[in-house]
Amino acid sequence: MVSRIGIHESVEAIFPANALRESLADVEPDVRVVTSDDLAAVDALVTFVYEDAFRDAGLEWIHSVQAGVDRFPLDELDAAGIRLTNSTGTHGDSVGETVAGYMLSFARRLHEHRGKQTRGEWAWPAHDAPFTVDGSSLCVVGLGTLGRGIAMRADALGVDVVGVKRTPLPVDHVNEVYPATDLHEAIADAKFVALAVPLTDDTRHLIGPAELDAMRDDAVLVNVARGDVVDQDALVDGLRDGRLAGAALDVFETEPLPADSPLWEMDEVIVTPHAAAANRDYPERMATLVRENVRRLASGDRLANLVV
Ligand code: NDP
Repeated sequence: MVSRIGIHESVEAIFPANALRESLADVEPDVRVVTSDDLAAVDALVTFVYEDAFRDAGLEWIHSVQAGVDRFPLDELDAAGIRLTNSTGTHGDSVGETVAGYMLSFARRLHEHRGKQTRGEWAWPAHDAPFTVDGSSLCVVGLGTLGRGIAMRADALGVDVVGVKRTPLPVDHVNEVYPATDLHEAIADAKFVALAVPLTDDTRHLIGPAELDAMRDDAVLVNVARGDVVDQDALVDGLRDGRLAGAALDVFETEPLPADSPLWEMDEVIVTPHAAAANRDYPERMATLVRENVRRLASGDRLANLVV
């Protein structure tokens, strides 16, 4: 049973820490906003970043406000007896809508019009550039919370959706599910390829030169997973050489994206600042997860979204 929950100040990168504290006013443990200097005062921590000090602070439980936990040293936390939970299950709608937006932007040339607007330019796109997403095709790589949220919205827009997952069982709104070993076949016919896998040893540089070659020349790569899932240098080369038509990127090998990255300047690249899941309801969604796990801790049940 935890009696004092700290909300690490790092969550401010995503939402106001006090909004989460207020949303958790009804839970029994004391909830306070803390810095890394206050860790001794709490026995559980809700956080955006990971710092080594967390491991040695006598915490019982850490909750990541992100779904991805690739920055957390899972083995070390396990060895230290610290339970880690994540926020998967909460971003399917927000990220799904963001990816639908990217696809519609490429099809209807909205990013091109917006670029011209900033220059006061009144000009149609090239006659053969616009298309409708209705009748186009998408391969979603990773069919968990994010991938399903993407697939459902794409299906509603009339897109032919296929997907890839480790265990290739049927998934609603996905016409064909491929195993990870058939990635090249799965992406070969897709106008859009959307990445929604966790970053692991298996998925680091999942998309590199060979996969870019396997994709259509007019394909658009969407990455809402983690930057390192894509070999970013190979992607830049592929975009320059016309081996694919464009990319919508929410995540990058280095974040923030460095000012000298060529990706900033490419007309057919949409850059968003790791904000695909941004949502004004974020603190309330985190409160729901934390509240449920406070209840489970009290009753001795297995924690929801337990990673280690
Ligand atoms: P889930 O755990 O719900 O789903 C992960 C999916 O990836 C599963 O379908 C899994 O397959 C599949 N998968 C795992 N490894 C492989 C592989 N090697 N090849 C093919 N498929 C694989 O995670 P979420 O959907 O919640 O999140 C996914 C990732 O997206 C997070 O880890 C995070 O890094 C990122 N993310 C980014 C956000 C943003 O703001 N841009 C927001 C939220 C998450 P199977 O079902 O067979 O196990």
